[in-house]
Amino acid sequence: LQGNSLAARDARSMIHAYTNLSTHLTDGPLIIESGKGVHVYDDGGKEYIEGLAGLWCASFGFGEEELINAAIEQMRKLPFYHTFASKSTEPSIRLSEKLLEIAPVEFSRVFFANSGSEANDTVVKLVWYYNNSLGRPEKKKIISRQKGYHGVTVAAASLTGLPPLHNDFDLPIKNILHTSCPHYYRYGKDGETEEEFASRMADDLEKLILKEGPDTVAAFIAEPIMGAGGVIIPPTTYFEKIQAVLKKYGVLMIADEVICGFGRTGQMWGSQTFGIQPDILSCAKALSSAYLPISAVMVSQDIFDGMVKQSEKHGAFAHGFTYSGHPVPAAVGLRTMELMEERNILGHVRHVAKRFNERFNALADHPLVGEVRSMGLIGAIELVADKKTKRPFDPKYKAGPKTAQAMQDAGVISRAVAGDNLALCPPLIITEAEIDEMFDRFGKGLDDVAAMAFR
Ligand code: PLP
Repeated sequence: LQGNSLAARDARSMIHAYTNLSTHLTDGPLIIESGKGVHVYDDGGKEYIEGLAGLWCASFGFGEEELINAAIEQMRKLPFYHTFASKSTEPSIRLSEKLLEIAPVEFSRVFFANSGSEANDTVVKLVWYYNNSLGRPEKKKIISRQKGYHGVTVAAASLTGLPPLHNDFDLPIKNILHTSCPHYYRYGKDGETEEEFASRMADDLEKLILKEGPDTVAAFIAEPIMGAGGVIIPPTTYFEKIQAVLKKYGVLMIADEVICGFGRTGQMWGSQTFGIQPDILSCAKALSSAYLPISAVMVSQDIFDGMVKQSEKHGAFAHGFTYSGHPVPAAVGLRTMELMEERNILGHVRHVAKRFNERFNALADHPLVGEVRSMGLIGAIELVADKKTKRPFDPKYKAGPKTAQAMQDAGVISRAVAGDNLALCPPLIITEAEIDEMFDRFGKGLDDVAAMAFR
């Protein structure tokens, strides 16, 4: 890129997150300048519907004055303080109380971090710390799932079950293992019912625990609905069967609610939607509607008691971030939680989800679409080269990314995840009319690509 445009300056100055750095040098970025409601606008004035709420996170859309004011007011009063060495601030205290009040199960305490990755790195350390407190340091292994996404820091990326996040980085670290992905459309066997498939997934987990030795397996972590792995919705009885295995071997259940938390599935937590009883829960993203970085980990009484015991023996719990419990994002998080109640966001999501799901289902007959998956306000279509055999496209055609580009050209921002899955996860405040407009553009992008016929 030549010249002095913002795009050229970007390509000359920035290393981009999760971007093909070689094509970026010539193609440059899409520069988003402003946003209002479910819409964002680029530097040329073109309007888009943000079909992914940014990165599955801006639940109140763009420009919500209540959240902006919450940040400004707190910024004026106390722009920063920390939580090391028993210091605290009112917004972090109030947000902890609020999270404990709305949690899907009875939790004891909340730990704050800045991102989903940091929350999940913290979870790994907490599991180890807790087992040390019980005098069983050999119980260290954590099982996650192939295609699960838990972040990019060293431990979180290890939990993530997507090879591109491991290759080149010497990951996963030891003591982190992966079990099967509960995607019936892709991995169900001929003649196997969804129920039988769910049982097989639980058997796979049990076999892995037995192979490793139950005394060495500490925890299992899962997103209620896998997001970046392709929006994979597990069979209805999957978590019930998985949790029976975990109980049998004394393995902790960790729910990664970074995407599903705060209304995405139509209930406050994905754990409620899927009957998950977590011992530990991580959340981020919609906790502050993404307006400022903040994440949280909630733990059971049992785990907190263990932590206190360990601290008694060894002194300070030696973990925490400069910005753990930062008062400004905490104030925004608190206001976000209040707005969810004041505006009955859960009721709204359940209402508009019907339209969202109908419009998704209407794409099932499209010649490029192998499977449609949606629940609440999250969903995806999976593109295939052959609908009958479910044969995927050869990756060299870049079917997913090209389709996402065509959709962007048509005015809706989607994202190709885990290959050729086009995801939608719009702001929770989206209206039925906006859902219709979003799907009209989504469908146009799909048709434009179908016309290119990249087979
Ligand atoms: N967990 C899940 C389920 C996620 O979707 C993500 C991010 O997309 C993360 C963890 C990591 O969060 P962050 O990108 O804030 O580190």
